[in-house]
Order: sequence, then C-alpha cells, then structure tokens
Amino acid sequence: MPESRSQPIDLVVVGGGIAGLWILDAANRVGLSAVCVEAAKLGSGQSICAQGIIHGGLKYTLKERDLTAAGPIREMPSLWSDLASGEPKNGPDLRSAVISSPCTWLWRTDSLASRLGMLGAKAALRTRPSTVAAEQRPLLIRDAPGVVLRVDEPVFDTRSVLEALATSHASRVVKVDGPEGIEFASQGGEVKRVILRGGNAEATLVPRAVVLAAGAGNEGLLSRLGLDASIAQRRPLHMTLLRASSLPEFHGHCVDGNRTRVTITSGRDAGGRVVWQLGGDLAESGVNRDPAAQIAFAAAELQASLPSLNLSERADAAWSTYRIDRAERRTRSGLRPDDAEVLSLQQGRLLVAWPTKWALAPRLAAAVLAALPPGIITDPTPPVDLAGFRPPEIATFPWENQTWISHHDVRSAAPA
Ligand SMILES: Cc1cc2nc3c(=O)[nH]c(=O)nc-3n(C[C@H](O)[C@H](O)[C@H](O)COP(=O)(O)OP(=O)(O)OC[C@H]3O[C@@H](n4cnc5c(N)ncnc54)[C@H](O)[C@@H]3O)c2cc1C
Repeated sequence: MPESRSQPIDLVVVGGGIAGLWILDAANRVGLSAVCVEAAKLGSGQSICAQGIIHGGLKYTLKERDLTAAGPIREMPSLWSDLASGEPKNGPDLRSAVISSPCTWLWRTDSLASRLGMLGAKAALRTRPSTVAAEQRPLLIRDAPGVVLRVDEPVFDTRSVLEALATSHASRVVKVDGPEGIEFASQGGEVKRVILRGGNAEATLVPRAVVLAAGAGNEGLLSRLGLDASIAQRRPLHMTLLRASSLPEFHGHCVDGNRTRVTITSGRDAGGRVVWQLGGDLAESGVNRDPAAQIAFAAAELQASLPSLNLSERADAAWSTYRIDRAERRTRSGLRPDDAEVLSLQQGRLLVAWPTKWALAPRLAAAVLAALPPGIITDPTPPVDLAGFRPPEIATFPWENQTWISHHDVRSAAPA
C-alpha cells in the first residue's frame, strides 16, 4: 500500500483509557487538533476494572505518609459531581455518565486497631465525612461497632464514563490494528511521523506532540521508541468478585487500623445481577494467593467485615477472581505516586502520562496541557481527515466472561 499523505496535527494521544480520553477532551477544549489512538478496546486494562470511586483523600489520611497525597485529590469529588450534573466547568460533559452511588460508607470491625484507625481518620480529614445515626445506616452496616461515616465521594460506573467521553469525540477516537497498528518514524529520538493502520484505513500524521497514555502499554511504547521503560512501575492486585441476584448495591470501605481491609463497590452484569468488586488490602495481599485461596480468604474477610451478610441464604451466590496491575510512574519507594504524573521529553514534544488514580484524570489532563511545547495552543492546526477508521468498542466489565464458583463449594473448600 502506498504511504498515505502526511497530515499535520497538534497532538497524538496513544491509549484510550480514562487518561487518554480525558486528555483528548482537554486538548479539544483548548482548540487543538488531536486524535486518540486505541489498540484494543477503550479502557481495557485498568479503567474498565476501576472501582470508580472519586476519592477526596479520606482513605489516604488513614496513613500518616499519605497526608500530602490527600491534597491534590481533595477537589476531585466536587469537580466530577459538577461535570455529571452538567454544571458549566472546564471539563468533559459527563451528563450521560451513571453515578452508581453519591457517597461511600466507612465502617470498622471490632478490633482495637480499628478504633484507633477511625480516630486518626477523623482528625485529619479535609473531605468532611458525616457520622450517621444507626437508623440512617445501610442495613448491611446498621449494627457495625462504633461510628459509621458517610463520605461524599461519588462512585461512577466506569463504562458509562468511558462511553460519555468517547461519544463526545467520536470522530477523534480511532481503533488501530493492535499495538503494531501504530508505527513511529523517529529521528534523533524525536517522533517525526506517526503512521496509523486500522482495517483498510491508513493515515500518516506529523504531530507537534505525542502523549503516551497507554497504562501498562506505556512500557512497550517506551521500548519501541528506544527509551527507558523502567521509568514505569506496576503494582499488582488480585480482585475478588461476588455475584448474587439478591445482593444489595453497596459502596464502602471497612477500615481496620490504618488499612482499608476491604473496599466494596457494586455493578450489574448483563443479566441484571448485582456484582460486588472487592478491593482494598484484600486485593493487595491476594497477589500471593491462588484463586481458590483468594476466594476462601475473601469469604472469611466479608464475614468478619459484614457479619449480617448471610451468603448461605443466597442460592445463586458465586465467586470469581481476576488479576490486574496498576500501571504508574515509578517511585523510589515503589509505593503509589502522590499525584497524576507527566514526564516531559524533547521539550514537551513527547509526554508520558499516568493518572495514578481514575479520580485524578482531570489533573493529569491539565498537567499534559501545561507541559506541551509553547506555541501549540496559541497557534493550533486544522483538524485531520481520519475517514475510513473505525471507532473502538468500549471494554466489557471484568465480571463478564468469568468462571464462577458457587458459594456453597467455597464454604466447603475454605479452611475451618
Ligand atoms: C482494580 C482496580 C481498581 C481501581 N479503583 C480505582 C478507584 O476506585 N478510584 C480511582 O481513582 N482509581 C482506581 N484505580 C486506578 C485507575 O483505574 C487507574 O489509575 C486508571 O484507570 C488508569 O487509566 P489509564 O487510562 O492510564 O490506563 P488504562 O485504563 O490501563 O488504559 C490504557 C489504554 O491504552 C490502551 N493501550 C495499551 N497499549 C497500547 C498501545 N501500544 N497502543 C494504543 N493503545 C494502547 C489499552 O487498550 C487501554 O485502553 C483502580 C485500578 C484498578 C486496577
């Protein structure tokens, strides 16, 4: 096939998770010609799996180290809520996005460490939680020991957010034929041209800047560009899923000392059944357990965290697990960075971006715009012609296409 004609463009965004789509929206908002290029399905990787909680820093205040991390994130709950309610804000239109819950709940188990942890949390809070009287608590935690806090951190349905963003920019989000569907022609380490191939379509773009926002895929992209991929880190999780038609939708954290023992969020499968995603410490420590052991451990953790939840009464209750890595910029400690991270190379012509958290996508997009080479925003290029490329599909939730184990079998497999 002869090479397609070269078209100048301001920004090529590689990767269509929450990061790439939000950056695309921000670039479009300031008048840049930009395209977001996706190799698989939008959000495949972390974004579709995210629990969708728009943290305001409360969880971070449980650990002293994390007090500084609570700063950058504290404006996020109100910003996201405004975007979803259609308030004129400097951000994408999220009116069609689904808010699964306007708040999360924080409760504790009965251990001594738990009592201390909750005190620590209350003393350091910026996103003020409210203590809720027993009769106003969700049924599941009505009898929880000590205080129960309601935190105004909304929980978003991740798929609906990705869909809202993709729909707003349908002509600017393109699917290519896997990672190899993007070819970089570079000179002296600088990306001169980006050739996109998807189906029968091909486009040769001459970008003024490229941003790599491909989550775990950033590592492969960096290597292909001859750059050091060890600037990225991965932190693995082993998530547990619990599905039952009669489960209530519930969103919250059970706190024990200064750790989040388990974080529960809820979604629905294609058949309308409620699925709980279980994250928090359970998912971090679970990387060392095989799926059967993780499910047995999760069942015990849930029993300890929510004693009133009687799973044996729910005939179709079933369990599953999946593994996923959080992809971030490397930190010296190997722990989570405190904020969204942008690495600027070649005077801003090549940027590497990691949001660190789903909630921080707005901060990431602002940081990317600030890091672009001077002149781009004041003198934008006309839009490019991407006719012939197909829009990518949106990834499916991690609970679709899983193998499930009946709760009945788990109980008999669990250690006594
Ligand atoms: C289980 C889990 C739960 C989480 N819960 C929360 C939460 O409740 N709140 C919160 O704030 N954060 C949460 N996070 C963190 C959050 O999910 C991530 O910070 C965020 O989704 C990262 O988005 P991303 O767009 O950078 O990467 P991804 O979502 O991984 O997207 C990368 C995209 O790039 C594409 N891609 C990959 N390689 C290439 C390539 N070579 N070329 C083109 N495209 C490519 C992929 O197909 C994908 O669409 C959670 C993370 C996990 C794993």
